Amino acid sequence: MSSTPAVPQIPVVTLNDGTRIPQLGFGVWQVPDAEAVPAVRAAIEAGYRSIDTAAIYENEAGTGQAIAESGVARDELFVTTKLWNSGTVDWSGPQGRDRVRRAFDESLSRLGLEQLDLYLIHWPRPMHGNTFLNIWPVFEELRAEGRVRAIGVSNFRVPDLELLLKESAVKPVLNQVELHPYFPQEELRAFHAEHGIATEAWSPLGQGKDLLAEPALLAVAAKHGRTAAQVVLRWHLQSGVVAIPKSVTPARIRENLDVAGFELDAEDLAAIAGIATGRRIGPDPAGFDWN
Ligand code: NAD
Repeated sequence: MSSTPAVPQIPVVTLNDGTRIPQLGFGVWQVPDAEAVPAVRAAIEAGYRSIDTAAIYENEAGTGQAIAESGVARDELFVTTKLWNSGTVDWSGPQGRDRVRRAFDESLSRLGLEQLDLYLIHWPRPMHGNTFLNIWPVFEELRAEGRVRAIGVSNFRVPDLELLLKESAVKPVLNQVELHPYFPQEELRAFHAEHGIATEAWSPLGQGKDLLAEPALLAVAAKHGRTAAQVVLRWHLQSGVVAIPKSVTPARIRENLDVAGFELDAEDLAAIAGIATGRRIGPDPAGFDWN
């Protein structure tokens, strides 16, 4: 008899370049580097195989340490990190190219990896003259060199995506954006679907505050004998969205992965649609320029 716990089956989404990403991943925003080690360890032990970090989270080293110590084969894990805004840095020309490549090398080295699975432009920063158009060709280069398997974007709005699609050869595989039942991003998701771009939800649990106490969600949860968090994650999965919930509490880390074995019906989905406010919790990418 084996004492190894069963690893939950996580659905997989095939991206537009053929890369496959687990539909549920583990996010580590606001987890200090030292705490990222036990948190990512607990996540991998629970069965997560996709981890979402970013240079600005300052926990790539802890994340990488947990990955190295996990004993799980590298090709079974999907690791995402993101290029930070970096002030008013000029991303154009050969110097801009060097800056992107250096930032990528530094992230990879902190993670202790030879190859990254997914690299994202963290914010579009349209107020800076769409510098993402300078960054993206360097992402394409890193991909062609095999240093990263897939490239994508985060917090891009429809006009940002339109511009990127018009100007570039390689499509982003996904756009990682704020998305939860309060802010379901229907218009953006329709645009993604039309262009073969996957949708990845950040703050998929609405940061766990008011959302998880919504009476309508609690009623759906009670009906299925599940928690509100599990209902919200099930909603993401049934919407075809990739979600990356965060928790540093081992019981919740496991709970958030245990979302198979029940199905939301039309009545449940209507109840969840009814709590949408159309309001963000996080910043609006149109004006977000934090450095
Ligand atoms: P989230 O929606 O995942 O909520 C996390 C919080 O919800 C936890 O801190 C905890 O308080 C609570 N929670 C988690 N599981 C719970 C459970 N089972 N029951 C009750 N409460 C629970 O919020 P998030 O961390 O903002 O987003 C998830 C990930 O998305 C981040 O860690 C990060 O990787 C990514 N992210 C990306 C961006 C971006 O700009 N690309 C921005 C924000 C977050």
